[in-house]
Amino acid sequence: MTITIHARAAEIAAPIHPAYDPAPSIPRLLTELGQEDFWTRYATVRGDTNTFNADYIADRKRASLLLRAVIADLVALANPSDFHTAAQAAAAANALRRADWKMCLPAEASRAWLREQYLEHQEAEDPHPPNCPGGCRGSGTVIEPVIWQSDGVPLHAEPVDCLRGEEADPHAADCTGCHGTGRKYDAEHREYQVCGYYTPDPAYEPAPRPAASGDPWSSSPQGGYDDEPPF
Ligand SMILES: [Zn+2]
Ligand SMILES: [Zn+2]
Repeated sequence: MTITIHARAAEIAAPIHPAYDPAPSIPRLLTELGQEDFWTRYATVRGDTNTFNADYIADRKRASLLLRAVIADLVALANPSDFHTAAQAAAAANALRRADWKMCLPAEASRAWLREQYLEHQEAEDPHPPNCPGGCRGSGTVIEPVIWQSDGVPLHAEPVDCLRGEEADPHAADCTGCHGTGRKYDAEHREYQVCGYYTPDPAYEPAPRPAASGDPWSSSPQGGYDDEPPF
């Protein structure tokens, strides 16, 4: 019986067909949602929505509804036994359907439809607005260095996801790939490559700190937080 329970737990932890593959980053989705919503409301607040391209405003509104529903769906997927979050995700998916002049669907069907819409959005030629602060001109990709020489000079650039003008979230020192630098060393080719995913090492322990000096102007912390000012 124990084996069956374990097998079931493993199945829940790693479904054969994940709903989102790869799983989107919720912080990135929030940035995307914030920007799409801003552009929509900016036009309204200025009071001259009619001077904006109608397709531009419609695309921003739809992207906002899509992204907020995807965030709700991800939260619901992470809590499979919570019917409230599942209902919220379905309602958010149906809000997008309503904006598309489509009939509301039952909960599971609306969420399945939402995931198809998100896939289409990602594969679209213009997932970002033409005035995207990331400089992608709407394409959602920008050309950036991904390989550097050992002296830091960029060697190779390729299309990467546009971050809408935001810096990439940093990796902490416990990242098994880059130890917080964002780049990992390829000894065979003697070059640095971008560290694609923050992979925290659960066994990581920070290096011991130097003993406190007692000098309030010293940069060494005296047992408090690292970023605590000395006064
Ligand atoms: Zn962009
Ligand atoms: Zn890393």
